[in-house]
Amino acid sequence: MLLNLALKKYFGYDEFRPGQREIIESLLSGKNTLGILPTGTGKSLCYQLPGYLSEGLVVIVSPLIALMEDQVASLQRSGEKRAIALNSQLSREEKNFLLARLSQYKFLFLSPEMLQNTVVIQALKRQQIAFLVVDEAHCLSQWGIDFRPEYRLLPDTIQELQQPPVLALTATATKEVVKDIASQLLGEEANVFQYSADRPNIAYFVEQPAEKEAWLKSYLGEQSGIGLIYCVTRTEVEHLYEVLKEQFSVGYYHGGLASDQRRLLQDQFLKGKLRIMIATNAFGMGINKQNLRFVVHYQLPDSPENYLQESGRAGRDGAPATAVLLYQPGDEQVHRYFRQKLQEERQGFERILAVQESSGKRQQALSPLQEKWLHLEKQADPGQLAAQLLTNEVQKELRLQAMLDYVASTSCRREYLVRYFGETNIAIPARCCDFHEGKLYLPADTIASENSETSVNQDTVEGWQSILLKLFKEEIPL
Ligand code: ADP
Repeated sequence: MLLNLALKKYFGYDEFRPGQREIIESLLSGKNTLGILPTGTGKSLCYQLPGYLSEGLVVIVSPLIALMEDQVASLQRSGEKRAIALNSQLSREEKNFLLARLSQYKFLFLSPEMLQNTVVIQALKRQQIAFLVVDEAHCLSQWGIDFRPEYRLLPDTIQELQQPPVLALTATATKEVVKDIASQLLGEEANVFQYSADRPNIAYFVEQPAEKEAWLKSYLGEQSGIGLIYCVTRTEVEHLYEVLKEQFSVGYYHGGLASDQRRLLQDQFLKGKLRIMIATNAFGMGINKQNLRFVVHYQLPDSPENYLQESGRAGRDGAPATAVLLYQPGDEQVHRYFRQKLQEERQGFERILAVQESSGKRQQALSPLQEKWLHLEKQADPGQLAAQLLTNEVQKELRLQAMLDYVASTSCRREYLVRYFGETNIAIPARCCDFHEGKLYLPADTIASENSETSVNQDTVEGWQSILLKLFKEEIPL
């Protein structure tokens, strides 16, 4: 009951969403805790509310600067000024200034690399730490999508910080990932709360048209409502924008745009000035738009993990929504190409080190990624990093294969996706997927009422991104 009062006081909400209360109670009792909640169900509240109810600083380890910035901005929007991100974007003076004033903050976001920095660790040691949060905790597992070897160094740092309680959060975790997070980071005593990955209001479709562009135009023409189109590459994002911009209210977004441009675009989409956003997966994390009616994947995603995460941005409001995946044979090659590049970089790294060992001298400069590997290798057991990188390459191919199996599957799409995450016996909703005779188009009346929140303002939209594109032309890597 007291927790409900606190929820109302700090956030204005009447009820906890499934899992939130259990996770918060576990953390407040001082237990290491793992919370696995689907995207959009409110993971941030699981550390924000206990943060308000505990003495000391909440340290949140986050894998991406954009994610940290989104979370700081969202806390600040809600009136919380004591939130800050310590990241590589700050100058040395700014970092020192912040570290000298840590006691004035409640929520500190930083990357796992930053948490390796001895000056940062020393400053944290002088603070009372309420608890430590590992956001996107699947990054820690070598079986996890987005595996980041530097996450493996976290347990030592946590020990150095006198072992505050740890809350690990993630949206998508297979059984192996859960096991790995528990054993690597949290210990056997940890409480694990895992909630269904199923999103009953989203219907899943796979389409294999001969002409994807024509299919998409026809779909967007028939289907009203606000939506997202994901592509794998920046080039494809910009190409699709050119193809669709005359006919539809579209914008585009990818990591190659300048950060103020990205912020502007995100804002325009959130405020409903664009009906459709075409983007790479750089768009979406931290985007809290409730009424997306569809997410189309124009190119094959690299894994069921990412597919569930990205398609899960549709229908956060609980109303019917659609996830469509467009596939043409060969779409998988782009991922194999990326992987091959990474493999070459790893092999190059091993060669450079072997030459250095025999000649006593480094004969070739390392790339930034290779520099990072070198740093990690120095801290890990011999051979451990190489083994992890290799495992990761194999895992990537297995995940891509799982995505191809999803496309080729001749039974329920929903069941396929949740089975991948170890779930069985889910309920099949009335509008489920193409194998359950689900209708691809949402009835207009479900959408009409939804659009009121973000009616699209055509005047503002017309050509505005083209103007931007011209203004920033030099900064956009095409
Ligand atoms: P996630 O990190 O799981 O993707 P967020 O933490 O961004 O999701 O939360 C998604 C949205 O849900 C936010 O707008 C948040 O304020 C809202 N939310 C979280 N918990 C509740 C709740 N108990 N009741 C109503 N809304 C909530």
